[in-house]
Amino acid sequence: AAPYDVVRLRQEFPVLERQVHGKALVYLDNAATSQTPQPVIDVFNDYYGRYNANIHRGLHTLADEATAAFEGTRETVRGFLNAADARQIIFTRGTTEAINLVVNSWGRANLAPGDEVLVSMLEHHSNIVPWQLLAREIGFTLKVIPVDDDGALDLAAYRELLNERTRLVAVNHVSNAFGTVNPVADMAAAAHQAGALILVDGAQAVPHQPVDVQAIDADFYAFSGHKAYGPTGVGALYGKRELLEAMPPWQGGGEMIATVSFDGSTFAEIPHKFEAGTPAIAEVIAMGRALEWLQSVGPGAIGDWEQRLLERATQGLGNVDGLRILGTAPGKAGVLSFVVEGAHSQDIGLLIDQLGVAIRTGHHCAQPLLHHFGVEATCRASFAAYNTLEEVDTFIAALNRVIGMLR
Ligand code: PMP
Repeated sequence: AAPYDVVRLRQEFPVLERQVHGKALVYLDNAATSQTPQPVIDVFNDYYGRYNANIHRGLHTLADEATAAFEGTRETVRGFLNAADARQIIFTRGTTEAINLVVNSWGRANLAPGDEVLVSMLEHHSNIVPWQLLAREIGFTLKVIPVDDDGALDLAAYRELLNERTRLVAVNHVSNAFGTVNPVADMAAAAHQAGALILVDGAQAVPHQPVDVQAIDADFYAFSGHKAYGPTGVGALYGKRELLEAMPPWQGGGEMIATVSFDGSTFAEIPHKFEAGTPAIAEVIAMGRALEWLQSVGPGAIGDWEQRLLERATQGLGNVDGLRILGTAPGKAGVLSFVVEGAHSQDIGLLIDQLGVAIRTGHHCAQPLLHHFGVEATCRASFAAYNTLEEVDTFIAALNRVIGMLR
């Protein structure tokens, strides 16, 4: 394979030429949202400049072109996740909506009082709160898979939690707060053995490693475009075909029906049954372009590069007096959460921005996890394909300066 050419790759991202407060931008908030390469940006000009039209309904040329590009993206996502059939890909507004779809369609139809759903301590709020809302209505029980001191899931405890009442396990593939990579294929096998389904939140996995939903044997798999070099407002849900076919629609409207009368309506086949209303057409097409871009660089190669960045940053942080890294599980992804004695995370974030470095501070939508580790907020640096070793050094030097100012 050719060596990883980060310099050339960066040239595809116009935003990386930006200055912030007179300093070259060092963008290390990729777990929140990744930057966008020119071919993905170009999709918007091309779509609105040449073939903007509503899909599926038209019989004219522009509608045909838009429909072909939109449905072509379904095939792109299918290939990217190695799903068996493009009809198993449902476009959503993102991971959050994908999870809400499963909760409100599958959950409402299948959960009853006495049933149990397992979520993990590592979950993003979007994989906790929708389940809580439905549990409050229906009365099933939500149980939590604990973590060890490294921020790895306690798999022995997981196996003990699984029982004949467990209906579904909802777990992320990679933790956005700590970077922990969960053994989701093993977890799926254990869930299935107990007669339960597994929903995998892949928001932080898709941009950083190859994903094969069939190898994982995931029943549902969710991700967002904007963390994978694509636009905001779009994502996808993969589901096993027999599950999706049996599930009721969760939003009603145009596109999702077969027939409508005032005596009742019948519904379209999958995937359209779950895609009520006009979707984010340009965003879907652009997400497809982003996945093609990711595939052309190689999720494996990107993951390997990010490991080098992670290693260097971990070393650099290790030399900072009074700094504690949260989440040190072996094999973790390129996410570094840390707190510093005598310096508030928010102050660090604000001051380091003055030096051109973008990191995230706060609870990262994982309040239960941070609470478990006894903190309210952390600083988080997270890496992407275009980050360089020099940027890591700039970040560490800037952090040291900022801490010096705060202490
Ligand atoms: N799950 C994880 C693990 C995430 O990192 C995020 C985004 N931070 C989400 C879910 C929610 O994704 P979105 O906001 O794109 O719906």
